[in-house]
Amino acid sequence: MELNSMTHNKLKEIITQRGEKGFRAEQIFRYFHQQDGQGIMEMGQVPLSLREELSSSYTVNNIKILHKFKSESDGTIKYLFLLPDDNIIESVVMGYAHGYSQCISTQVGCKMGCSFCASTKDGLVRNLTAAEMANQIYEAEKDLGVRISNVVLMGSGEPLDNYENVVDFFDIINSKLGRNISLRSITLSTCGIIPGIYKLAQENIPITLSISLHSPFDEKRAEIMPIAKKYCLKDLMEALRHYSDTTNRRITFEYTLIKGTNDGEEEAKEIARLLNGMLAHVNLIPLNPIREYNEGRPDKNHVLKFQSMLKKLGVATTIRREMGSDISASCGQLRRSVLEEK
Ligand code: SAH
Repeated sequence: MELNSMTHNKLKEIITQRGEKGFRAEQIFRYFHQQDGQGIMEMGQVPLSLREELSSSYTVNNIKILHKFKSESDGTIKYLFLLPDDNIIESVVMGYAHGYSQCISTQVGCKMGCSFCASTKDGLVRNLTAAEMANQIYEAEKDLGVRISNVVLMGSGEPLDNYENVVDFFDIINSKLGRNISLRSITLSTCGIIPGIYKLAQENIPITLSISLHSPFDEKRAEIMPIAKKYCLKDLMEALRHYSDTTNRRITFEYTLIKGTNDGEEEAKEIARLLNGMLAHVNLIPLNPIREYNEGRPDKNHVLKFQSMLKKLGVATTIRREMGSDISASCGQLRRSVLEEK
């Protein structure tokens, strides 16, 4: 087990079980999550005997920047990180007027199979550990000399398919002994794994939940998102109502707009009907075509037209700023192009 994937509570448990004082756990936690420490033997404040004991039982996860790309058009930065087992993941940092936002990966690859998404084309390799999620942020901060204030789990992977590690990551990144990033500044995006949504509602953590909708009709949705064969929209909407009632948080919907597929008047009407009476918001993402799904990119006017249909029906929408398209910033594109080169 990785020492830097443990929450402060977990650390305290293993440290006190060894008959050590609780404050050692705090020291160790701060060492990794505040001081960017990288190795057990280098924890200078911790007694040598404890360091030796810990290094015989635990490992430390470190990741490295393999490549860094900077968009000429908008300054978006994309990192390819090398994991200890030589897997590669990607992460994107975007600068906004109010600070820096980072989109992190939660898995190496993905098994959800959405037809237009590059991350899933080679299947799931493995889950990321909590430290691997946090390290994406620490490495970017160190490299850029800035603080990340917003985190979105919208990189490669399905976060609710890596539930325990993701929840530990929230605990770690939010800790006052670590980066202390507000949970309200964190967004988790899911294709709609219903049991995970109910579980998350119980955790009492005020993150923003974002649902990839992509069609308000079950059949059409299942054509582009295989998960929709397992969970129908009726049950999904019930889970989301439960989530927003329990947490009092507004739910965001992502809608990848695909020209000629999910952009009609009937879709707009059905979206309005589905979201009626709910604290919700739709974020329109113009399809970013990939090799296996290269038709249906809507032009700007097309997106605006769909947005105005929704607006007339009373649905709050925004259009996702297309950032870093010159550096393949859409999930999984860059990792794949590098893997293919190899
Ligand atoms: N597994 C999570 C996170 C995926 S990435 C989820 O399904 O929500 C975040 C969003 O980008 C999802 O809505 C996903 O469907 C969308 N997306 C993936 N590839 C895309 C592409 N090529 N063009 C537009 N949106 C895409």
